Amino acid sequence: MRPFEYFRPSSLKEASELLVRYGDGGHLLNGGTDLIVRMRDGLTLPSAVIDLKGIEQLSRIREDEESVYIGATVNLNQVGRHETIGKSFPYLAEAALSVGSKQVRNRATCIGNLCNASPLADTATPLMALDAVLEVFGPEGEREIPIRDFFVFVRKTSLKPGEIVKGVRVTKTAGQGVFTKLARRKEVDLSMVCMTLLKAEDGWRLSYGAVAPTPVRLPKTEALLNQGAALEEVLSCAVSEVKPIDDVRASREYRLEMVKVMLKRGLEQIEKGGAVS
Ligand SMILES: Cc1cc2nc3c(=O)[nH]c(=O)nc-3n(C[C@H](O)[C@H](O)[C@H](O)COP(=O)(O)OP(=O)(O)OC[C@H]3O[C@@H](n4cnc5c(N)ncnc54)[C@H](O)[C@@H]3O)c2cc1C
Repeated sequence: MRPFEYFRPSSLKEASELLVRYGDGGHLLNGGTDLIVRMRDGLTLPSAVIDLKGIEQLSRIREDEESVYIGATVNLNQVGRHETIGKSFPYLAEAALSVGSKQVRNRATCIGNLCNASPLADTATPLMALDAVLEVFGPEGEREIPIRDFFVFVRKTSLKPGEIVKGVRVTKTAGQGVFTKLARRKEVDLSMVCMTLLKAEDGWRLSYGAVAPTPVRLPKTEALLNQGAALEEVLSCAVSEVKPIDDVRASREYRLEMVKVMLKRGLEQIEKGGAVS
């Protein structure tokens, strides 16, 4: 690893100022399970590492009658074991607990999972299906980014220089949802394809990971589901809305086939009354 400066600010303002001061060389450190691996492999060479874990306000899950808010430094075991998240969004809890191992999840955060902007980020598909909103602090103040506008490309988000995600907010939604992760092993493996299917009060919502440069919603397939279209039509449409590639984990053809299989099984599971929120 190349030498770098280490900072542990206690406020968002201080962290954002450091980010601006170091420009492209400044990197935020959260759980570090993506960043430190990339630094070790020489893929990211920071001149300054800015640790967010000293900022007290980021470390909590908050809730009110309408929504649940997950702070930036809350780890994935905390998300997966949170009582309200388990009751209101069981598929989000399941996605959080599907990441890595127990040890990895004690460090890794949901916000780090999103900000890393990997196409296969497991917590992205439930949060996309839930129309989550990211709360952001930056040099020009605070703003909100709907999650569907957050992912721009592989490892690229719509955050501007100096901006930090404070947390993610989800509205409590009645309905049934299913999270499915297809990987080569049951634990400590990355998704070949992951999916969240949600039957919400206002209709179907469908999101996939690892089948495009970013996690994606499938609006045309959702519309067909809402119209009660035939299963074959729905499955063909789903395949037409994704663009998987061949990589070390799976071929493009296999992923396309799995998009259909996972959707069919998800619909069957919801039909049987699975994973209710
Ligand atoms: C053994 C192992 C297994 C894994 N398995 C999985 C898996 O099954 N599924 C999966 O999806 N991932 C997996 N990962 C990847 C990783 O654990 C997750 O993506 C994790 O959630 C990242 O969170 P973190 O807090 O560690 O992020 P960090 O590594 O701290 O940060 C990740 C990126 O986000 C940026 N960032 C962090 N916080 C903020 C913020 N608040 N605002 C703006 N930018 C920010 C950082 O600068 C960095 O670029 C695995 C990793 C390892 C090492």
